[in-house]
Amino acid sequence: MSLFGEKCARCGTKTRHEVDGKATCEACEKEMELLVEASKEESRNCPIDGTRMSKEIAHMIVIDRCPNCHDVWLDGGELERLKGGVEASALMAMANGFTVPFG
Ligand SMILES: [Zn+2]
Ligand SMILES: [Zn+2]
Repeated sequence: MSLFGEKCARCGTKTRHEVDGKATCEACEKEMELLVEASKEESRNCPIDGTRMSKEIAHMIVIDRCPNCHDVWLDGGELERLKGGVEASALMAMANGFTVPFG
């Protein structure tokens, strides 16, 4: 690890934070924790076409996305967090299919 920090292995942001010996920024560490949590939950099937949905993270919110019709579904708890003001930016990301923000 260099004095000036390294690039996060996941998103490329400069960071001095490390997880398991790999440069990982704190935001990514939190997201990975969320994904680990999410992976313990059952995947659900798309209510429209029955395709098994995959879990994604958008701005710290776990979402289920159907790979077939690209619809996005939120758990009840995630809706609560949205109400708490997490946001327009997360909704935009979901709507546009970007789970990693630009720039
Ligand atoms: Zn990162
Ligand atoms: Zn679907």
